[in-house]
Amino acid sequence: MKIVVGQGSCGIAAGANKVYAAIEKALQSKNVEAELASTGCIGMCYLEPIIEIIDNEGKKETYVQVNPDIVDEIIETSLIKKEQHEKFSISQEDANILEKQERVALRNCGMINPESIDEYIARGGYEAIEKAIKSKTPDEIIEEIKISGLRGRGGAGFPTWFKWNAAKQSVGNQKYIICNADEGDPGAFMDRSILEGDPHSIIEGMLIGGYAMGATEGIIYVRAEYPLAIVRLKIAIEEARKKGYLGKNLFNENRFDFEMRIKAGAGAFVCGEETALIASLEGERGMPRLKPPFPAQKGYWQLPSNINNVETLANVPWILQNGGVAFAAMGTEKSKGTKVFALTGKIKKGGLVEVPMGIPLKEIIYEIGGGIMNDKSFKAVQMGGPSGGCIPHHLIETSVDYESITKTGAIMGSGGMVVMDETTCMVDMARFFLDFTRKESCGKCIHCRIGTNRMLEILTRITEGEGKDGDIELLEELGTKIKEGSLCGLGQTAPNPVLSTIRYFRDEYEKHIYDKK
Ligand code: SF4
Repeated sequence: MKIVVGQGSCGIAAGANKVYAAIEKALQSKNVEAELASTGCIGMCYLEPIIEIIDNEGKKETYVQVNPDIVDEIIETSLIKKEQHEKFSISQEDANILEKQERVALRNCGMINPESIDEYIARGGYEAIEKAIKSKTPDEIIEEIKISGLRGRGGAGFPTWFKWNAAKQSVGNQKYIICNADEGDPGAFMDRSILEGDPHSIIEGMLIGGYAMGATEGIIYVRAEYPLAIVRLKIAIEEARKKGYLGKNLFNENRFDFEMRIKAGAGAFVCGEETALIASLEGERGMPRLKPPFPAQKGYWQLPSNINNVETLANVPWILQNGGVAFAAMGTEKSKGTKVFALTGKIKKGGLVEVPMGIPLKEIIYEIGGGIMNDKSFKAVQMGGPSGGCIPHHLIETSVDYESITKTGAIMGSGGMVVMDETTCMVDMARFFLDFTRKESCGKCIHCRIGTNRMLEILTRITEGEGKDGDIELLEELGTKIKEGSLCGLGQTAPNPVLSTIRYFRDEYEKHIYDKK
C-alpha cells in the first residue's frame, strides 16, 4: 500500500503538509502499514490537497480537497475496510480532465516523488542522455530537435535547434547552457510546477543540450520566490551527481563532462530577458544589453551561451526518447508538440493543463477548465501575461498556436491564461498589467521608463472618471511609440494589454470617459 500526497506549492498552500502529518499519525495510531510519499502538482490545483492511495495491485483511488479532519475516515475506509470512500473521491468529470490532455513536459509531474532520482529513472529518466552520449553525435541531436519542431516555450517561440546550432558553431574555450527559470508573469506557474514536480527532466534536458552544443557547464537561474523549486533542484543535482549523471567523463565514454549549479535571482521581471539574465548572473544589475552580439556568440562572461526556458528543456528528453517525428506529429504545421498553460482567473477548474498545439481556445476554457465560475459568461482571456494581450469572446474558437494567437493581437507568451467574466472591467485589467510592467521597467530607455508612467496616468484618470476627450487616441499613440522605441521585450510589449483592450473593448473606455460626464 502506498499513499501519495500532492506537495507542490499549490497543495502546500491548500494544507497538504498538515494532511501529510495527519496521515502519518493515523497510520501509526491505527497500526496500518503503508508507504507514505510525496509528489508534485498534477495540475488540478482547484482540488488540492489531493491524495492517492495505491494498493499492492496498482489500483489507485484519488481523494480530493482532503483536510486533516477527514484523514482518519479515509484511512479507515480505504486501508482497513478496503472500500472506496465515495464522499471524498474524485468525480468522474474531474478525473476525465487528465484524459483530455497530452502530457509531455508534465509527464512525470504528480506521478513521481521529485526528491527521488530512482523514481525518475524508473520512468525512463536519464535514458535519453545515455543514448545520446553513447550513440549519437551532437549534430544528430540537433537534427532530431529540428525534426521535432520544438520552439522556445518561454514566449518568443524561437526554434530550439537553431539556438543550439548557433551556440555550437560559436568558438569559445568554455560554453554555457542556462535554464531560464525566472518565471514572473502574474498568473503563470507552469515552470514552477515542473521544477517542483520533475526537476530531473530539466537536468537531463540541459545535459542533452550541453552535449549537443559543447557546453560543459549548466546554470539554472531560478527566482528566489520559488524556494521549494530551489530545494528540490538542489536535491536533484546532488542525487544526479552521486549517480554519475554529472561530473567528468559521463557514462565512461570519454566524450562529455558536465557540471551544474543554481543561481537564485532576486525576482526582477526583466531578468527573464536573456541579456538582463546574463548581467544578473555576472553580478551586475539586471538590465538588458544591446543585441548583437547575441548570447550564442558572446553571452555569460562574453562566452558562447545558450538560454532555454524550463518547459522547453523538459520536452527535450522525451523528444530524444520518442523521436522528433513523434513530437512533430502533435500540434499544427508551424507550432509542433504540446504547450502547458496555467489557467487562472474566473475559471471553475484552475490549474495546469498540457494540450496539443492547435486546440481551440474554447476547448481549454470549457471542456478542460470547466467553464466560467458561477456560470457567468466568458468575456475575454489575457494570454501571455503583462506582455500579452486579451482575446475576446467572439474569438473563442481561435486555434491555440503561435501564429493564430499572434493574429489576435495577443501572444502565446510562456503560457499564462487569465480568464475574465462579464463583470471584469477591461480598462481596470489593462491598468493592472501596465502598472506591473511600469514597476518592473529597468529604466534604461526613456520610452519604457517614462512612457509607461504617462500611459498609467491616463488610464488612472480614465478609471477614476476623469478621462478626457482624446485620451484613447493618446494611449494608442504612446503605446505605439513605446513599442517602437524600447530596447527589450519588456518595453516592446508593455502597451499590449492596453492596445488590445482598446482594439476589442473601445466602448468600455468610451463609457468611462463620456458616461460619467
Ligand atoms: Fe529596461 Fe524597459 Fe528599456 Fe527594457 S525596454 S531595457 S525594461 S527600460
